Amino acid sequence: MTDKFAQLHRLEIVQQLAAQTAVFWNNPQQLPATEGLAQVGLTLEDVQDAAARLQRFAPLIAEAFPESRSRGGIIESEVVALPAMQHALMQQGSLAGKLWLKKDSHLPISGSIKARGGIYEVLVLAEKLAVDAGLLSEQDDYRRLLSPECREFFGRYKIAVGSTGNLGLSIGIMGATLGFQVIVHMSADAREWKKQRLRDHQVTVVEHEDDYSVAVEQGRQTAANDPYCFFIDDEHSHTLFLGYAVAGLRLPEQLAALGISVDREHPLYVYLPCGVGGGPGGVAFGLKLAFGDAVHCFFAEPTHSPCMLLGMSTGYHDAISVQDIGLDNQTIADGLAVGRASGFVGRAMQSLIDGCYTLSDQRLADLQLLLHRTENIQLEPSALAGMQGPLWVCSDPTSQLDKATHLVWATGGSMVPDEEMQRYLAMGQAQ
Ligand SMILES: *Cc1c(COP(=O)(O)O)cnc(C)c1O
Repeated sequence: MTDKFAQLHRLEIVQQLAAQTAVFWNNPQQLPATEGLAQVGLTLEDVQDAAARLQRFAPLIAEAFPESRSRGGIIESEVVALPAMQHALMQQGSLAGKLWLKKDSHLPISGSIKARGGIYEVLVLAEKLAVDAGLLSEQDDYRRLLSPECREFFGRYKIAVGSTGNLGLSIGIMGATLGFQVIVHMSADAREWKKQRLRDHQVTVVEHEDDYSVAVEQGRQTAANDPYCFFIDDEHSHTLFLGYAVAGLRLPEQLAALGISVDREHPLYVYLPCGVGGGPGGVAFGLKLAFGDAVHCFFAEPTHSPCMLLGMSTGYHDAISVQDIGLDNQTIADGLAVGRASGFVGRAMQSLIDGCYTLSDQRLADLQLLLHRTENIQLEPSALAGMQGPLWVCSDPTSQLDKATHLVWATGGSMVPDEEMQRYLAMGQAQ
C-alpha cells in the first residue's frame, strides 16, 4: 500500500480488497430515492431529452444498421427468464424470487452496453455540429445526415476516445458511419478482434502498453491541441451517462409487457457490472428515476479491479486507484479492467446504490460456462459479474425475496468471435 493511503489499511473492507477476497459491501450512505436523486446533478428532464434525441435519430439508425430495424432504429435489448440457470444456481445457495437477464450483450451495432452511451454521445455531437452549420433542423428526417454532403462535412472533424475495447468499438463504428475521423486509444487489455473490427471501419487504433487510465489520458491529449478534435471522456461525461440512463426509463414498459410488477412488495434487484462506472451508474440513475425505492441496484467488479467499491467505501473516489492498495488490475473481464473509478459517477451514485461486490476471475469463468450449459447463452466474462449478485443478496437470512425480480445486466458478448468464446468456456469449471 502506498504511503499516502497507509491509514486505510485499518479499514476491514480495504484489507479484504487488498487480499483479493470476494466481498459484499452494503452502502451505509444510501438515502431514499428522492433524496439520493437530488444529489446527482442531473434530472428526469435530462434523461427524457436524451430519449427524445434517440427517437429523432431512430430512422437514421434503422437505415444504417439493418439489425436495428425490428425495433425501428431504437437501440434496445430483450429481457429473458433464466429458469435453468436459476435452478443450477440454487444448488449453490438460496435464490428466492425469479432470475432474469437483460441482454445488452445483444444490442445492435456493437454488442455491448456501450451501444447506449457511446453511440449516444456521437449522435449528440453530430446533431449539434449539423444544426450549427445549418445542415439540419430537429424537424428534419435525420437520414439526411447519411448523405455524401453531410458525411463530407463530418469528415472535417475527429473524435478521440480511450477504451478497454467496447467503448472504442461503439464510438468507432458510429463515428465512422457518419464520416467522422475516429481515433481510438486502446488499453493493453483490449482484445485483438475489437481492434481489427475498428480498422475494418477505417478507424485509427492506437495501441498502448498500459491500462485504461493511460489510454484515456492519451485520448484526452490527442484532442487538447486540435480544435477539430472532440474527446469523449469516459471518466467525466454527463452525455454518456444520460445515454445509459435512457435504459432505465424504458424498463417499466418492458417488464410490464412480461407481466412483471415492480413495487415495494415486488422489489426489483438489478446487478450491474462496473468498470469506470458510467454504464452501470447511468443505468442505475435511470432505474431509480423510474422505480424509486422499489429498485435496488448493485455494482459488480472483479477482485483484481474493484475501483468503484474502493472509491466509494473509502470516500476517496477518483483520488485512489486499485494499484494504490497493491492490486494489479489484471482480469479476464477486459470491460471491467479499470483501476480508478469515475469521480463524477462515484459521487453521483454514493447515495443511490444499495451496494457493491467483487468476484474472482475463476468465478466469472465458471458462471460463463454454467450459463452456456444451462441456457445456451454466450457472454463475455465481464458480463457475468452480475450473476453472483442474487446469491449474495439472498444469503442474508432475514431477506424475504419470494416476490423479488432479480435482473442480471448482461453487458456484452454477442460479437465475440467463436474461437475466443471457446477459449473462455474452456477456462470454466463445471460445478
Ligand atoms: C464498459 C463495460 C462495462 C462497464 O461500464 P463502465 O461504464 O466502464 O462502468 C461492463 N461490461 C462490459 C462488457 C463493458 O464493456
